Amino acid sequence: METFPISAKSKSMFIVYMVTNTCAFDAIALAYNDKNSYKRYINDCENLFLQFSKDLAIQELNKIIYRRRVDLLLMHFNKSEIYLKVQTINSECNATKIIQSYLKDEPSATECISCNKCGYITRPSPTIILPSNSDIKQLQTLLNVYTENRNSKCSTCGDIEISSRVLGEHIFIKTDFFTTPIQLQHIPKKLNTK
Ligand SMILES: [Zn+2]
Repeated sequence: METFPISAKSKSMFIVYMVTNTCAFDAIALAYNDKNSYKRYINDCENLFLQFSKDLAIQELNKIIYRRRVDLLLMHFNKSEIYLKVQTINSECNATKIIQSYLKDEPSATECISCNKCGYITRPSPTIILPSNSDIKQLQTLLNVYTENRNSKCSTCGDIEISSRVLGEHIFIKTDFFTTPIQLQHIPKKLNTK
Protein backbone atom coordinates (compact mmCIF):
# COMPACT_ATOMS: atom_id res chain seq x y z
CA MET A 1 0.00 0.00 0.00
CA GLU A 2 1.30 3.43 -0.89
CA THR A 3 0.14 6.75 0.41
CA PHE A 4 0.81 10.12 -1.14
CA PRO A 5 -0.92 13.39 -1.82
CA ILE A 6 -2.20 13.98 -5.32
CA SER A 7 -4.08 17.23 -5.31
CA ALA A 8 -2.94 20.38 -3.61
CA LYS A 9 -4.86 23.23 -5.23
CA SER A 10 -5.41 24.77 -1.82
CA LYS A 11 -5.14 23.47 1.67
CA SER A 12 -8.87 22.68 1.77
CA MET A 13 -8.65 20.69 -1.52
CA PHE A 14 -5.78 18.51 -0.34
CA ILE A 15 -6.67 14.83 -0.84
CA VAL A 16 -4.58 11.83 0.06
CA TYR A 17 -4.90 8.76 -2.19
CA MET A 18 -4.01 5.29 -1.03
CA VAL A 19 -3.64 2.75 -3.81
CA THR A 20 -3.72 -0.99 -3.24
CA ASN A 21 -3.16 -4.15 -5.30
CA THR A 22 -1.37 -2.48 -8.20
CA CYS A 23 0.62 -5.65 -9.10
CA ALA A 24 -1.17 -6.29 -12.40
CA PHE A 25 -0.99 -2.65 -13.39
CA ASP A 26 2.72 -2.45 -12.55
CA ALA A 27 3.55 -5.79 -14.17
CA ILE A 28 2.56 -4.92 -17.73
CA ALA A 29 5.77 -5.10 -19.70
CA LEU A 30 8.10 -2.18 -19.45
CA ALA A 31 9.68 -3.12 -22.76
CA TYR A 32 10.45 0.45 -23.75
CA ASN A 33 14.21 -0.01 -23.61
CA ASP A 34 14.30 -3.45 -25.26
CA LYS A 35 14.23 -2.51 -28.91
CA ASN A 36 14.68 0.71 -30.86
CA SER A 37 11.70 0.07 -33.13
CA TYR A 38 9.42 -0.46 -30.11
CA LYS A 39 10.88 2.68 -28.54
CA ARG A 40 10.00 4.67 -31.68
CA TYR A 41 6.50 3.21 -31.71
CA ILE A 42 5.87 4.28 -28.09
CA ASN A 43 7.43 7.70 -28.72
CA ASP A 44 4.97 8.24 -31.56
CA CYS A 45 1.83 6.89 -29.93
CA GLU A 46 -0.52 8.94 -27.80
CA ASN A 47 -1.78 6.16 -25.56
CA LEU A 48 -1.58 7.46 -21.98
CA PHE A 49 -0.66 4.09 -20.48
CA LEU A 50 2.23 3.56 -22.93
CA GLN A 51 3.43 7.11 -22.38
CA PHE A 52 3.35 6.44 -18.65
CA SER A 53 5.26 3.14 -19.12
CA LYS A 54 7.89 4.99 -21.13
CA ASP A 55 8.39 7.63 -18.43
CA LEU A 56 8.52 4.91 -15.80
CA ALA A 57 11.31 3.22 -17.80
CA ILE A 58 13.42 6.33 -18.33
CA GLN A 59 12.79 8.46 -15.25
CA GLU A 60 13.62 8.03 -11.62
CA LEU A 61 10.51 7.40 -9.53
CA ASN A 62 9.14 10.72 -8.41
CA LYS A 63 6.00 12.32 -7.04
CA ILE A 64 4.71 13.27 -10.48
CA ILE A 65 4.94 9.69 -11.76
CA TYR A 66 3.01 8.43 -8.73
CA ARG A 67 0.43 11.13 -9.30
CA ARG A 68 0.05 10.11 -12.95
CA ARG A 69 -0.41 6.50 -11.88
CA VAL A 70 -3.29 7.59 -9.64
CA ASP A 71 -4.84 9.51 -12.54
CA LEU A 72 -4.55 6.43 -14.77
CA LEU A 73 -5.97 4.11 -12.11
CA LEU A 74 -8.94 6.45 -11.61
CA MET A 75 -9.81 6.01 -15.29
CA HIS A 76 -10.81 2.37 -14.71
CA PHE A 77 -11.01 1.73 -10.96
CA ASN A 78 -13.32 3.10 -8.32
CA LYS A 79 -12.19 5.19 -5.42
CA SER A 80 -13.81 5.24 -2.04
CA GLU A 81 -13.44 7.66 0.81
CA ILE A 82 -12.20 5.97 3.94
CA TYR A 83 -11.69 9.13 5.99
CA LEU A 84 -12.35 12.76 5.28
CA LYS A 85 -10.11 13.69 2.31
CA VAL A 86 -8.52 10.24 2.28
CA GLN A 87 -9.45 8.15 -0.74
CA THR A 88 -8.49 4.60 -1.51
CA ILE A 89 -8.26 2.99 -4.95
CA ASN A 90 -8.34 -0.79 -4.98
CA SER A 91 -6.89 -1.90 -8.33
CA GLU A 92 -7.12 -5.63 -7.75
CA CYS A 93 -7.50 -7.39 -11.12
CA ASN A 94 -5.58 -9.55 -13.56
CA ALA A 95 -3.25 -8.37 -16.33
CA THR A 96 -5.91 -9.01 -18.99
CA LYS A 97 -8.21 -6.42 -17.46
CA ILE A 98 -5.36 -3.88 -17.51
CA ILE A 99 -4.61 -4.62 -21.18
CA GLN A 100 -8.28 -4.51 -22.18
CA SER A 101 -8.84 -1.28 -20.30
CA TYR A 102 -5.73 0.68 -21.19
CA LEU A 103 -4.55 -0.71 -24.53
CA LYS A 104 -7.81 -0.84 -26.47
CA ASP A 105 -6.43 1.54 -29.07
CA GLU A 106 -3.05 -0.25 -29.27
CA PRO A 107 -4.21 -3.84 -29.88
CA SER A 108 -2.14 -7.02 -30.07
CA ALA A 109 -3.86 -7.86 -33.35
CA THR A 110 -6.41 -6.42 -35.71
CA GLU A 111 -8.74 -8.66 -37.66
CA CYS A 112 -9.62 -7.38 -41.13
CA ILE A 113 -12.82 -8.86 -42.53
CA SER A 114 -14.02 -8.18 -46.04
CA CYS A 115 -17.23 -9.26 -47.72
CA ASN A 116 -17.98 -8.36 -51.35
CA LYS A 117 -21.51 -7.28 -50.47
CA CYS A 118 -21.21 -5.89 -46.93
CA GLY A 119 -17.83 -4.21 -47.24
CA TYR A 120 -14.78 -4.09 -45.03
CA ILE A 121 -14.53 -3.95 -41.25
CA THR A 122 -11.69 -4.17 -38.76
CA ARG A 123 -11.89 -5.68 -35.30
CA PRO A 124 -9.09 -4.98 -32.80
CA SER A 125 -8.09 -7.53 -30.14
CA PRO A 126 -6.25 -6.22 -27.08
CA THR A 127 -4.94 -9.75 -26.41
CA ILE A 128 -4.41 -12.85 -28.53
CA ILE A 129 -6.12 -16.04 -27.49
CA LEU A 130 -4.56 -19.17 -28.94
CA PRO A 131 -6.32 -22.53 -29.24
CA SER A 132 -6.59 -24.66 -26.13
CA ASN A 133 -4.07 -27.49 -25.58
CA SER A 134 -1.44 -25.49 -27.40
CA ASP A 135 2.26 -26.13 -26.90
CA ILE A 136 4.11 -22.92 -26.10
CA LYS A 137 7.20 -24.25 -27.95
CA GLN A 138 5.10 -24.10 -31.11
CA LEU A 139 4.28 -20.43 -30.65
CA GLN A 140 5.63 -19.49 -34.07
CA THR A 141 3.40 -22.02 -35.82
CA LEU A 142 0.43 -20.96 -33.70
CA LEU A 143 1.00 -17.33 -34.65
CA ASN A 144 1.36 -18.24 -38.32
CA VAL A 145 -1.97 -20.04 -38.21
CA TYR A 146 -3.52 -17.15 -36.25
CA THR A 147 -2.59 -14.67 -38.99
CA GLU A 148 -3.49 -16.88 -41.97
CA ASN A 149 -6.18 -15.66 -44.35
CA ARG A 150 -9.39 -17.60 -43.94
CA ASN A 151 -12.68 -17.81 -45.78
CA SER A 152 -15.96 -18.13 -43.98
CA LYS A 153 -19.63 -17.41 -44.45
CA CYS A 154 -20.65 -13.80 -43.82
CA SER A 155 -23.12 -13.76 -40.94
CA THR A 156 -25.06 -10.87 -42.54
CA CYS A 157 -25.47 -11.83 -46.20
CA GLY A 158 -24.30 -15.43 -46.35
CA ASP A 159 -21.70 -14.65 -49.00
CA ILE A 160 -18.06 -15.66 -48.61
CA GLU A 161 -16.00 -13.29 -46.45
CA ILE A 162 -12.24 -13.22 -46.18
CA SER A 163 -10.57 -12.43 -42.89
CA SER A 164 -6.99 -12.01 -41.84
CA ARG A 165 -5.27 -10.80 -38.70
CA VAL A 166 -2.43 -8.32 -38.57
CA LEU A 167 -0.26 -8.40 -35.48
CA GLY A 168 0.41 -5.18 -33.59
CA GLU A 169 3.64 -3.69 -32.31
CA HIS A 170 3.29 -5.61 -29.08
CA ILE A 171 1.58 -8.93 -28.54
CA PHE A 172 -0.11 -9.96 -25.32
CA ILE A 173 -0.96 -13.65 -25.38
CA LYS A 174 -3.44 -15.19 -22.98
CA THR A 175 -1.97 -18.47 -21.84
CA ASP A 176 -4.80 -19.66 -19.58
CA PHE A 177 -5.52 -22.50 -21.94
CA PHE A 178 -2.08 -24.08 -22.09
CA THR A 179 -2.51 -27.40 -20.32
CA THR A 180 1.05 -28.20 -19.28
CA PRO A 181 2.91 -25.77 -17.02
CA ILE A 182 4.97 -23.29 -19.02
CA GLN A 183 8.60 -22.80 -18.17
CA LEU A 184 10.32 -19.57 -19.13
CA GLN A 185 12.93 -21.46 -21.18
CA HIS A 186 10.19 -22.94 -23.37
CA ILE A 187 8.96 -19.58 -24.59
CA PRO A 188 10.62 -18.84 -27.96
CA LYS A 189 12.88 -15.79 -27.73
CA LYS A 190 12.28 -14.71 -31.30
CA LEU A 191 9.13 -14.71 -33.35
CA ASN A 192 8.68 -13.64 -36.92
CA THR A 193 5.64 -11.60 -37.78
CA LYS A 194 4.26 -10.80 -41.18
ZN1 LIG B 1 -21.71 -9.98 -46.23
